[in-house]
Amino acid sequence: MENSNLLPTICIVGRPNVGKSSVFNCLLRQRRAVVVEQYGTTRDRVEAVIDISGINLKLVDTGGYIGSVEDKIHVQVKEQIYRAMEEASIIIFVTEVISGVSPFDKEVAVLLKKCGKPVIPVVNKVDNEKLKNDAYEFFQLGFGLCEAVSCLHRRGIAALKEHI
Ligand code: GDP
Repeated sequence: MENSNLLPTICIVGRPNVGKSSVFNCLLRQRRAVVVEQYGTTRDRVEAVIDISGINLKLVDTGGYIGSVEDKIHVQVKEQIYRAMEEASIIIFVTEVISGVSPFDKEVAVLLKKCGKPVIPVVNKVDNEKLKNDAYEFFQLGFGLCEAVSCLHRRGIAALKEHI
């Protein structure tokens, strides 16, 4: 197997419960990928090699375990983003349409803006056409039009792969 450390890396970031792990799994299921799970010292970290248009890429779900205390969540999400900013070639920034744009999403957006790496904004939980209109709200985060996806119904995943 190809050494995954040498592959371009895509990191998935976002606040808890937006569907980062779901996006990870959806991207994996489209093509059969080799899952190389790796556990960090402080938190779990899941990596896999995905093939997009014949190119192998390392996909990293940096979410890991997030505690329930608000302050702790902030610290851990920030840590996750800093790590992604360091190692990613592309960052997938996941939000979700049902809660709308949250102050937490805005904080993540500010951090991502600073790093200058390519960011693909993804709005998850766009389970139907009506919700698709609501997804335009996320334009305000400053990363252009978002890829509207529903991991639940596997909508928009092909377009997201195209974008990647
Ligand atoms: P993470 O904490 O950001 O990794 O989020 P998860 O992938 O664990 O998902 C959080 C919750 O959102 C779970 O209850 C999922 O079942 C739910 N979820 C994920 N994708 C979708 C979706 O496309 N539509 C809806 N309605 N729920 C979803």
